[in-house]
Amino acid sequence: MAVSSFPLLSDKHLGPAQADLDKCVHCGLCLNACPTYRELGVEMDSPRGRIYQMNQVANGSPMTPSYVQHLDLCLACRGCETACPSGVPYGRMIEAARAQIRAQAKPSRLARAVRKIVFERLLPSRSALQFAGALIFAYQATGLQRLVRAGGFLKLFGRLADIEALSPSAEIPFFYSKIGHTFPAIGPQRYRVAFLSGCIANVAFARLNEATIRVLQKNGCEVVLPAAQNCCGALHVHSGLEDQAQALARNNIDAVLSERFDAVITNAAGCGSTLKEYDYLLREDDKYRERAAEFKSLMRDITEFLASIELNRDLGPLNTVATYQDSCHLAHGQQIRTAPRLLLQAIPGLVFREMRMADLCCGSAGIYNVAQNEMAMQILEHKMEHVNETKASFVVTANPGCMLQLAAGARLYGEDQRVLHVVQVLDESYVKFEKAASTE
Ligand code: SF4
Ligand code: SF4
Repeated sequence: MAVSSFPLLSDKHLGPAQADLDKCVHCGLCLNACPTYRELGVEMDSPRGRIYQMNQVANGSPMTPSYVQHLDLCLACRGCETACPSGVPYGRMIEAARAQIRAQAKPSRLARAVRKIVFERLLPSRSALQFAGALIFAYQATGLQRLVRAGGFLKLFGRLADIEALSPSAEIPFFYSKIGHTFPAIGPQRYRVAFLSGCIANVAFARLNEATIRVLQKNGCEVVLPAAQNCCGALHVHSGLEDQAQALARNNIDAVLSERFDAVITNAAGCGSTLKEYDYLLREDDKYRERAAEFKSLMRDITEFLASIELNRDLGPLNTVATYQDSCHLAHGQQIRTAPRLLLQAIPGLVFREMRMADLCCGSAGIYNVAQNEMAMQILEHKMEHVNETKASFVVTANPGCMLQLAAGARLYGEDQRVLHVVQVLDESYVKFEKAASTE
């Protein structure tokens, strides 16, 4: 599958390149693909309107609070980029515009402190994430979460109740104990792959990571979890923290390239987009430029990898209806749309039903659903209308962040559908086959 090289970072002071801005011919063909325009019907909250405002700033207009607000409301989902016939590289333009805003902003002392804790102390540190995960687990397991939700205390703090409803569960045992280990292929070994298990996912999606290993093993892979791997740096990149993102990237490259692998696998489309752009992230690093390109050539989304090999067809029937929500980072960021659908359609008994506008963002968009909760929930409500129309009982996607958002959608606006990663559906099908075989 083709993978776009998407320059995420740009000169923090210059903003979007004039050559990129000039590519927009204001045709409006992107409007229908833009979730915020669809919700608000406001030109300034459309891709074309945002580009117009970026152009004004590039030509000397001040960055007003209204400009910042219209850009903040953009999901950076890149649906407009896919829809644009003129090849406007909107993704890198919004990143550059945001970096320009950040370069001139004066964050409060509290905002600076929170940023430092999250990006420098929490995300890169296994022990800090484990500690945070243990606290969340205690909050959930002791019944405190139920009490807080039932008491409605959080409603006193604006949208905090809605934001809390999106928080992930801490899944014990955490996945960290698996890192550094090697899992043998089941049956003849066909491939040797490295699996990068993420950062927060080791706490919040431990079972998904385990399912990923099982499915790879059953497809003839020896699965290695490089001991020195760390956070991919995606959230750092999107927050303009280039230096920290580069340090994390160098570490992951060293962790993987010290051995020989047929592929490096991720199950998180959001991480995958950034991992596939390490070559751009380290473009000015003479020592790592080539290694980053080699790393990129090995990087595969799990669905991309499985659809490219001869799939183990020992799949048991899952007699249900499933629909698929494209993750923006997979569909628009990596142009991977067919692979997850092919995998779902390979499962016997499973009826695959497309929803309308499956590649329209669900409102998750990294931390957008926290930062712009009201708009995120409005988008989610409409997304769930499309899901409900399919009458599917499985809502399947390929990114943990989207899973959290869709799970909230199923609870709040849906019909209590199960929300699963493609890999989890395959895993269930393989287990079903094994159980049937063992009783024969
Ligand atoms: S971004 Fe592309 S599709 Fe949208 S108005 Fe500009 S040229 Fe047209
Ligand atoms: S990135 Fe998404 S939200 Fe932002 S302008 Fe494009 S389509 Fe709209």
